[in-house]
Amino acid sequence: MVEVIDLCTGCVQVITNPICPHCFSNQVMTWARDKNLSKQEIDSIRKQLRTLVNEAEETPSSTRCIICGSKRVNLCIYCFTNKAFRIVEKNTNNTVTNEFNEDFDTKIWTLR
Ligand SMILES: [Zn+2]
Ligand SMILES: [Zn+2]
Repeated sequence: MVEVIDLCTGCVQVITNPICPHCFSNQVMTWARDKNLSKQEIDSIRKQLRTLVNEAEETPSSTRCIICGSKRVNLCIYCFTNKAFRIVEKNTNNTVTNEFNEDFDTKIWTLR
């Protein structure tokens, strides 16, 4: 049986480490809560992440998330990190944005 492999709707590459937008945004929020951000910053990051998740989930997918097992992965982790980065960049300062880059460059790839 041939397994259907969905391509990322962002960069059209095969999704190798499938994590759904929902689980990924949870990772981002967990990360953001450790960063001493103001409630306002946290709130607007959460709001914009939710929009991102909703948009991503509009596209049907048959790729299963390695964390929650639901079939809604249609964005690769690179594209999602990129989009989340822009949200963090818009809502915080340089220090936090740099930390996001460092943390998500290393941490997220080793996620199981
Ligand atoms: Zn992609
Ligand atoms: Zn998931």
